[in-house]
Amino acid sequence: MPGEVSRSLYEKALTLFPGGVNSPVRAAVKPYPFYVERAEGPYIYTVDGEKLIDYVLAYGPLILGHKHPRVEEAVRRQLEKGWLYGAPYELEIRLAEKILKYYHPGGMVRFVNTGTEATMTAIRLARGVTGRKYIVKFNGCYHGAHDAVLVGAGSAAAEYGVPTSKGIPEEVAKLTLVAKYNDIESVEKIMSKHGDEVAAIIVEPVAGNAGVIPPKKGFLQELRRIASEHGALLIMDEVITGFRLALGGAQEYYRVKADITTLGKIVGGGFPIGVVVADRKIMEHLTPSGKVFNAGTFNAHPVTMAAGLATIEVLEEGTPYRVASEAGRALAEELESLVLSYGIDAAVNHVESMLQIFFVKGEVWSPEDAAKSDKKLYLKLHEELLKLGVFIAPSQMEAIFTSAAHTSDVVSETIEKLRKAFKRLR
Ligand code: PMP
Repeated sequence: MPGEVSRSLYEKALTLFPGGVNSPVRAAVKPYPFYVERAEGPYIYTVDGEKLIDYVLAYGPLILGHKHPRVEEAVRRQLEKGWLYGAPYELEIRLAEKILKYYHPGGMVRFVNTGTEATMTAIRLARGVTGRKYIVKFNGCYHGAHDAVLVGAGSAAAEYGVPTSKGIPEEVAKLTLVAKYNDIESVEKIMSKHGDEVAAIIVEPVAGNAGVIPPKKGFLQELRRIASEHGALLIMDEVITGFRLALGGAQEYYRVKADITTLGKIVGGGFPIGVVVADRKIMEHLTPSGKVFNAGTFNAHPVTMAAGLATIEVLEEGTPYRVASEAGRALAEELESLVLSYGIDAAVNHVESMLQIFFVKGEVWSPEDAAKSDKKLYLKLHEELLKLGVFIAPSQMEAIFTSAAHTSDVVSETIEKLRKAFKRLR
């Protein structure tokens, strides 16, 4: 549990930051968030002297765990040469070539700084290329914190979007049509009415911001077909799944191809990044070769390029995926057997190194199913685990992530703690 040092820091933070934090989910750790002293491998060390096994991993980027020596070395080497130039630099070419080996071979890349910027740019690009104004997104999918994608809750929103944040004009929200994840009919319905005005369908191939919800068999392939039939572009937002499910992300894993891919998180090795990737004929619409505007002081930041390249090189060795996926599988199995033995209604969803438990009757195939789960019980699990030194996200609308640092001994220790936590759930 967070201790006195964290508490006094948080009290100060409450006077400095809205809600005490700089990104909302961080405030969800109750009664107050722990403050980090340092992190290494699978562990976070707090200012209160606690050691936590980390299954949040900064919400996805750290597939190699914290402070991986190869990434650290690459960052140090870069720092010796300076860290920001505002001019082109060779490492951006090397990272782009690496990405294009796995996504849109022969295509082009634009580096930006966050997943938010990546989807914002991808949507503008799709609108610029097609000359159309609507986009289709899925209820419960998250694509960052910009206006076009902060739309999408409630059954009334199944057609015209209702903004999920104040400050988004209705006129803007109306350009986002909201379909239901894993429900092809809901997409067909929207497309049959508005198809020739839709610039893009944007989807998280695994819904990772409503817990973890894998696509039903054929769902992504159907989206591919429908987008093509209507001349709309398919944007796969692989900010979480990119380089996580496989080097080629969900597109390799589920054998489906997007028109535009957005990446982030892992590909920056723990430094801020977003990436837009697509075939050349689409990408050339971006400035300066085309007329769709994008720019950024920090685009292709040298330190990020170095960290991202080192991360992918380590991932290419294969072992990190095996370790991370094995940890994911072992934890999912344990959770399943625990809910069974305690007779608790729950669904455990799991794809490689992403998993989540939903305290709900029946299976979870949509964010709507996920929303029915007992969030209080999940929060209790989070709290009991935190007391025992295991950190899972404080919201079940996030994933539990495993990494290459979650070796079998770390997982065994976690499993013991899971068993203790479940005893205390009653
Ligand atoms: N897309 C997806 C699928 C995400 O999960 C996120 C962040 N969790 C984003 C976009 C936004 O990325 P960022 O937080 O880097 O802006």
